[in-house]
Amino acid sequence: MKIPESIIQEIEDRINIIDIIGKYVDLKREGRRYRGLCPFHQEKTPSFTVTPEKGLFYCFGCQKGGNIFNFIMEIEKLSFIEAARMLASKVGITISAFEGTPSKKREAIYELYKRTAEVFHYILKNKEEAGRAREYLRKRKITDETIDSFLIGYAPENRDWLFKFLQKRNYSGDFLGESGLFSRKNREKAFFFKRLVFPIITSHGKVIGFGGRTLNGEEPKYINSPDSEIFRKGENVYGLNLSLEYIRKSGKFTLVEGYMDVLSLYQAGINNVVAPLGTAFTERQAYLLKRYANEGILMFDGDTAGVEATRKSIETCEKVGIDCRVVSLPEKTDPAELIQKHGVQALNNFLKSPINSFEYLIKKSLERHSSLNPEDKKAITEELFPYISSINSSVKREACLQELSETLNIDYSNIYSDFISTREPHADSRNKTRIITQKEIDIDEDLFLMIAVTENLDYFKYVRNNLFVDDLESPYAKSLFIALEECFRNNENSLDSVLLRIEEEELRNLIIEKAFSEEFEINQEQIIKDCIKRIKGKSMEKKRLRIMEKLKSYERDNTHLEKIKELLSEKMYLDKEIEKLRVGSNDRITD
Ligand SMILES: [Zn+2]
Repeated sequence: MKIPESIIQEIEDRINIIDIIGKYVDLKREGRRYRGLCPFHQEKTPSFTVTPEKGLFYCFGCQKGGNIFNFIMEIEKLSFIEAARMLASKVGITISAFEGTPSKKREAIYELYKRTAEVFHYILKNKEEAGRAREYLRKRKITDETIDSFLIGYAPENRDWLFKFLQKRNYSGDFLGESGLFSRKNREKAFFFKRLVFPIITSHGKVIGFGGRTLNGEEPKYINSPDSEIFRKGENVYGLNLSLEYIRKSGKFTLVEGYMDVLSLYQAGINNVVAPLGTAFTERQAYLLKRYANEGILMFDGDTAGVEATRKSIETCEKVGIDCRVVSLPEKTDPAELIQKHGVQALNNFLKSPINSFEYLIKKSLERHSSLNPEDKKAITEELFPYISSINSSVKREACLQELSETLNIDYSNIYSDFISTREPHADSRNKTRIITQKEIDIDEDLFLMIAVTENLDYFKYVRNNLFVDDLESPYAKSLFIALEECFRNNENSLDSVLLRIEEEELRNLIIEKAFSEEFEINQEQIIKDCIKRIKGKSMEKKRLRIMEKLKSYERDNTHLEKIKELLSEKMYLDKEIEKLRVGSNDRITD
């Protein structure tokens, strides 16, 4: 759906971008701009900039930028509509004014999931058939209070029950069938049955999915809701609804492997705890947490899978700039069991002395290759180089290589040259990912012109009088021309309404970046006129060339006399126009 431009404008008019962003970033005034430390990437000198005049923000470090809507979407992880709602409510604009169908459907799904979570929770607490589930939780020493806080539930054995129950509450079969709560093959059969269920709840309190655990040893032990419009496993973490305020306050999170670990740790007073959702810890999840915390403690199971998961998570943290340390548990223990068997104190003892991530990696490698013969040494360096490569800071990278040289008793220079030579082929994985998220755009003359016009929308009238969209070659320049044309016809005069009409994210970012660079602020009129002249010239030369080619193909053929005449007159017209351009006219742009 589309929110009417007038409402967006009204929100923008009433909102003070500095007030809103100032709640997340400490901003200092510098002339017409404000500056602060970027909330989207790690930095020590501020490159995050806001200009209230243009209503835009931009970070020179990570190239994120946009208007206040983009800021809220990014920092709160909201859709455009949700962000608009949040901002609207801050300035007292009524929400129902722009309630559209897709958002209504989304809300209805949230409502459905919440209701389902509540009914599962009720069954767990009250129904006889959930006896086994209650017993399991009791054995794992999970209290009623924790069960309530996490809204833990039980999905009944009868797969037909949930569909009937919800249908009686006026949900349509089609809606339920698409909701992700039922089997894809048979929409009346519940997806979760005979399982303990853990609702996955966002930091905004919305139930978006479930994890389910079997109680009688059936495989798979855990299943998760399928990915859907509202739920993506790799982008959410479990427990954030409750742990967020603790993570924010302490600037730290504790990452564990599973649902039961989250429950146990939270109950034991380690409230900043979260878990990935049945996947490896993804970069998206890391970025989500990075928004609230710069430090993480990893506490995975002591088994081989846990060690491997730890290793990967360390690399993920390093990539997104989270400082992480590791609590290494004894083999065959997970944090929940540890508390259950040895009490909270035992866990706290481990938590007191986490080791830094590189120490952990060395320790694990040494366990595997303990004889330290030349082969082992080689294997150890091969295991550790990828991690060292992923480190952002060259100081830290060097310190790790130093430590490795001491541990293995090898000359630093040898370690270093090995590191450099193995690094080459898969070097700069970071740059690669940056190109994926941040496509580099080649700015040719066409695009240069259109960006210059975007900087001063008054000039567009002149451009459209002198150029057609087809005179432009660059697809980006064409998109921008079309967006400007639409704004022109709708009498919309803000940079923001142009940005709203552009679908290519990389183009939007580029426009915002240029708006902050001020490189178009001097001599705009001359720049624009010169560009138009050259583009027009290029376009006409090309047409002329095409005509010449056609004429050539008709050369030995007398049947096309009419056509030839036509082409010749077209050519003459173009010659004249090209000549005119060369001489140059001096009409003014803005009148
Ligand atoms: Zn940034």
